[in-house]
Amino acid sequence: MKVSFVGIGLMNGSLSLDLQRLHPDVVLSGISRKTTTLNRAVELGLIQEIGSINQLQDADYVFVSVPVAAIATLLPQVLDAVGENTLVMDFGSTKTAICGAVKNHPKREQFLAAHPIAGTEFSGPDAAIPNLYDGKTIMLCEVAKTRSDLLARATTLLQKLNMTVRHMDPVAHDRHIAYVSHLSHITSFMLGKTVLEKETDEQNIFDMAGSGFASTVRLAKSSPEMWMPIFMQNKHNVLETLNEYISNLNAFKEKLEAEAVDELLADMKEINKIRTILKHK
Ligand code: NAP
Repeated sequence: MKVSFVGIGLMNGSLSLDLQRLHPDVVLSGISRKTTTLNRAVELGLIQEIGSINQLQDADYVFVSVPVAAIATLLPQVLDAVGENTLVMDFGSTKTAICGAVKNHPKREQFLAAHPIAGTEFSGPDAAIPNLYDGKTIMLCEVAKTRSDLLARATTLLQKLNMTVRHMDPVAHDRHIAYVSHLSHITSFMLGKTVLEKETDEQNIFDMAGSGFASTVRLAKSSPEMWMPIFMQNKHNVLETLNEYISNLNAFKEKLEAEAVDELLADMKEINKIRTILKHK
């Protein structure tokens, strides 16, 4: 099996580790902007060879996992370069602009749009970990536009990775993901900003950071190079979630100012319902 990675950071690096476990004979090559990234990926054993976009003809799979704006730019070039038996998948966190970028491409049926709901706040080849995808959900979009034999190939691989497949159209995907992922990241970044601005003595932050602060601010360690294009591509949905969130924050502030204890208690008890929704997480 021949696999090419376009981008070799957390997502593709972790996939490489799992593919090597599942298919010991897999041949892995990688394409990335920086030679340092490619050399590190070779050192870590994530790829065996450094590839180029002109060498994708006989790949069985090409996984494109770079920031979402770069996916939209690179995907048509990747499709131009692949042979007729290659399946191209992207792992981008947004789907509308990416599906739009290849909607009229002559090889559109060789592309499958995917978003694994798996990840960490770390990036680059050194962030790659085994079993990142094990037991996680993967959202697939516009599956009817992917050639049936290539879709079957992808489904077999995702089953081997022990992933749960969900189908969604790209517009709905971007609307829902804005609430559960993009808003969480903005909240975490802004919590980090607020505390950093207030606490000039970093030792105090470190000493007093209980598990609540550490877990809430964890996402603020994420790569700005990855997140800025996500916020820009999904700006319309992200702004809608932000408006709702800001209005909830303002309502909380007003109730606190008014010492509306019963209302605050009732609100927080209602929100505790999240325990039952996320009981297995
Ligand atoms: P990452 O660890 O930061 O790796 C990014 C890769 O993309 C590196 O190989 C980097 O190469 C390359 N790259 C960075 N900027 C680029 C640009 N402007 N043009 C071309 N290549 C560029 O990122 P990742 O976490 O694997 O994320 C990859 C994709 O997966 C993103 O689209 C993200 O939305 C999606 N995703 C991420 C997560 C997560 O939790 N991290 C979860 C689900 C989906 P160089 O070092 O050579 O520049």
